[in-house]
Amino acid sequence: MRENKILRGIAASPGISIKRVLIIETEEPSISEQRVTDVEKEIVKLSKALKQTKEELSMVQKKVFEMSDIHSAKIFDAQLLLLEDEDMIGKTVKIIRRTRKNAEYAVKKVIGEMSPSMRKNPFFKDRWRDIENVVSKIVRNMGNGRGRTVYAAMEKGDSVAAYDIPAFDMVFLGDVGGIITELGGKTSHTAILARAFGVPAVVGVESALRYLKSGDLVIIDGVRGVVVVNPGEETLRSYEERIRRYNDYRKGLTSLSTLSPTTIDGHTIEVSVNIELPMEIQPAMHYGADGIGLFRTEFLFINGPPTEPEQFEVYKHCAELVSPNSVIIRTVDIGGDKLLQDERFHDTNPFLGWRAVRVYLKNKNILRTQLRAVLRASAFGNVRIMFPFICAIEEVKLLKKELEKIKRELDRDNIKYDRKIELGIMVEIPSAVILARDFAKEVDFFSIGSNDLVQYTLACDRGNPRVADSFRPLHPAVIRLIKTTIDSGHSEDIWVGLCGELASELIAIPLLLGLGLDELSVSPGALLPVKSIIRQITLEECHEIADEVLSISSATEIEKYLGSIMKNRIGEHELLPL
Ligand code: PEP
Ligand code: MG
Repeated sequence: MRENKILRGIAASPGISIKRVLIIETEEPSISEQRVTDVEKEIVKLSKALKQTKEELSMVQKKVFEMSDIHSAKIFDAQLLLLEDEDMIGKTVKIIRRTRKNAEYAVKKVIGEMSPSMRKNPFFKDRWRDIENVVSKIVRNMGNGRGRTVYAAMEKGDSVAAYDIPAFDMVFLGDVGGIITELGGKTSHTAILARAFGVPAVVGVESALRYLKSGDLVIIDGVRGVVVVNPGEETLRSYEERIRRYNDYRKGLTSLSTLSPTTIDGHTIEVSVNIELPMEIQPAMHYGADGIGLFRTEFLFINGPPTEPEQFEVYKHCAELVSPNSVIIRTVDIGGDKLLQDERFHDTNPFLGWRAVRVYLKNKNILRTQLRAVLRASAFGNVRIMFPFICAIEEVKLLKKELEKIKRELDRDNIKYDRKIELGIMVEIPSAVILARDFAKEVDFFSIGSNDLVQYTLACDRGNPRVADSFRPLHPAVIRLIKTTIDSGHSEDIWVGLCGELASELIAIPLLLGLGLDELSVSPGALLPVKSIIRQITLEECHEIADEVLSISSATEIEKYLGSIMKNRIGEHELLPL
């Protein structure tokens, strides 16, 4: 037996487990092309399988709804819609009739023809697997494949490994020790549900099944994205120690839930959380978030633009959950890496293309519907509006004009909304930094989007693994742009936050405080670690650190400097994400 085989993947859900693993043959049913004699029988087989799949998926959706909320359960809508898609069903039936081929072959062919354009779309890349899984499920429900018997055989608490775990099956895996998959990204259903269950998961582990067999002892390190197969004695002992430290660290951090993010010398900064699904709100508030600093609304648009009542319900629900604290609802960031299924959004260079405000100003309905829904929800809590991807002053003026028009409409119809609703912009394009003083005269707050700011400042695609080494959030040019933005905002008396991933980089926290930010909006797992660091430093030290960093001209030197400060002051294990 080979000891200590180390596999690497994407850290999709934090936590560390040491368990026996069970391989789940995610039965990709083999589909052969066959001629059939009874065409009508094939069509009945198809329609029965579609019905059964729909029933099963609805059951899964119901389970997620019971565990979280109706809005989060909507992530299954795309799959459910596919099962009712008349175009897909019509084309499949046509193929069966015209070619006299089996239903399995026909359905696979039709979906296969839909896939190339969706696969190219970065927003759907992770989720495309979810659609393919529906096809496998339909085919299995036609009598192919082995069904889910393997789950029944699974002992509670074992870890599981699979090529992929369809969302259907994930909901039965709440009690497993850990999850390894070859496919998947941070935003795939597997990852989202693993985080919701609190099960450690490493996804995107290339060729994992080549190195694993059922019964192997496996360490799943969902913090670092590492899997160790059949660990040797020494590795096992060191990981047991790491789990103990990690658990102590987590326990210690939980006690921070009720404490404020205040430095030793009494300076309090707001720490809020970024969310992509409403189900993330309750845990964030439970762990003491000051609010939701960025609500990415793109999930609502997965199946095309939602109606005003649909959006209103979601925003109202969120506003009520977060109240009296505030939720910053960002208007949909269409385009870039967050494309819609719609072909119109397929740009050759999407990050420099038709994105967000550029889309709204040509398709006012998308904007107007969303603004109306947000304004109406503002009557039920503390809501702020934020526009992404702003690069010109005219854009803000036009957007404000639209907002005023909608307010007048609501006044006319006697519909309540918060008349003092705050309006902010994301500062994430260098032109917005250069003009920040002018923008600050127009809006109530800035939130710095460091993910895009890094990408546009360093000319480095944020999603391209080939240039990942050049994507340096601690690049001196980026730090100086952040400083300019903060100073420009303050000179006009508006507050300035930062909601990009940099706010969740623990070594950057003293620097960000020292630069003068008023708010940090972090990923949910970083909330308590960030609070912990803030509570262990003084603002005075942070200012010194920021002054020093602003004098350094190399990203490597800045990273080294901040890393050494944190190691000396805080200790390495505290730098783990939670
Ligand atoms: C950012 O760009 O930093 C940001 C927070 O927005 P998004 O990651 O959604 O583009
Ligand atoms: Mg952005």
